[in-house]
Amino acid sequence: MFQAFLIKYGEIAIKGKNRHVFEEALIRNIEQALKPVEGEFEITTERGRIYVTAVGDYDYDETIGALTKVFGIVGICPMWQVELSDMEQMAKDVLAYVDDVYPDKHKSFKVLARRADKSFPLDSQEINRELGGVILEAYPEMHVDVHHPEILLNVELRNKLNIYSEVIPGPGGMPVGTAGKAMLLLSGGIDSPVAGYMIAKRGVTIEATYFHAPPYTSERAKQKVVDLAKIVARYSGPIRLNIVNFTDIQLYIYDKCPHDELTIIMRRYMMKIAEHFAKESDCLGLVTGESIGQVASQTMKSLMATNEVCTLPVYRPLIAFDKNDIIAISEKIDTYETSILPYEDCCTIFVAKHPVTKPNLNIIRRSERNLSEKIDELVETAIRTTETIKVEAE
Ligand code: ATP
Ligand code: MG
Repeated sequence: MFQAFLIKYGEIAIKGKNRHVFEEALIRNIEQALKPVEGEFEITTERGRIYVTAVGDYDYDETIGALTKVFGIVGICPMWQVELSDMEQMAKDVLAYVDDVYPDKHKSFKVLARRADKSFPLDSQEINRELGGVILEAYPEMHVDVHHPEILLNVELRNKLNIYSEVIPGPGGMPVGTAGKAMLLLSGGIDSPVAGYMIAKRGVTIEATYFHAPPYTSERAKQKVVDLAKIVARYSGPIRLNIVNFTDIQLYIYDKCPHDELTIIMRRYMMKIAEHFAKESDCLGLVTGESIGQVASQTMKSLMATNEVCTLPVYRPLIAFDKNDIIAISEKIDTYETSILPYEDCCTIFVAKHPVTKPNLNIIRRSERNLSEKIDELVETAIRTTETIKVEAE
């Protein structure tokens, strides 16, 4: 049974003097990810290495499930970590490892020994030869292949003896918390949870804002968004979620503006309000799930119109993605099944039959002038009555 894991991290290793910041964030995030996992873990570092060691019984699958969601990790090697003594004991340990991990011995292998401790009487080459011989003798079904072995048996002589041969791919990316904060406009759709996942993968901490329109949108539609945030939080860590009551603003726009411009104008107010919360909590940008041409409100002209009301940069990680590619990611990260639940969305309720696809900014601005009497007050009320919750992965 594996008791420890060697955590391999790629991109962050090249960050020169920032390396410490990155490693510390990675360790923090690993700790956070392992919290809900059954078992107790110790995280230790040793010369550019991170080890996760289980203290006593633990759930292997849950552990791998959690670690494969921590951005910054490129590989997870389940490992045996035993006391390092002499060659004879090492041979016993390696044989026991091979026997335990590979019940079927009809496999090719290669031993790759490394010594951090140069005081060990044999050098790496000698250890390779010695262990190779011992394995062949014990398990004659096995054979050596130095170029493309099925089992690359890593034997590391460090403070302890590390033996590992499997690498489970991690998600890559950068540890969350190393790239500042951004405000995600999170709806109940397929796209925005994927956008949140992608921006978090670059190390960005995310907060989120959701607009609902009770009673036109239901409590279940809101719960769906909370559920999506919980799934994204498995990767991004806890998310502060602002839930804005958008009903009165929407009704007012519906009342005062041409209906083919509703979506654009609504979208502009969503951006403004999201930006308010973004600035309040020191976010460096907004994030949406928009993609060019997906719907009328996402033509380049429409994007320009929604963008115009923001002063913060708006990040759109999905801008050039086809819907199928977005769906593939949402399936991979497990948001898809929740996203396709049929609860109504505030954008679909007040949507026009034939929305403008090429909004003219001057016309939009002119229509918005019809709102001047009450809109500031409505926006202020929406902000003041916003409910903020902290969403954690379950
Ligand atoms: P999604 O699948 O993310 O809902 P969509 O394809 O339905 O996207 P739109 O409804 O046009 O596209 O929304 C575009 C973007 O605007 C969304 O990706 C999201 O970032 C934001 N957005 C839309 N509706 C809401 C909402 N009710 N609350 C918060 N953000 C929203
Ligand atoms: Mg939507």
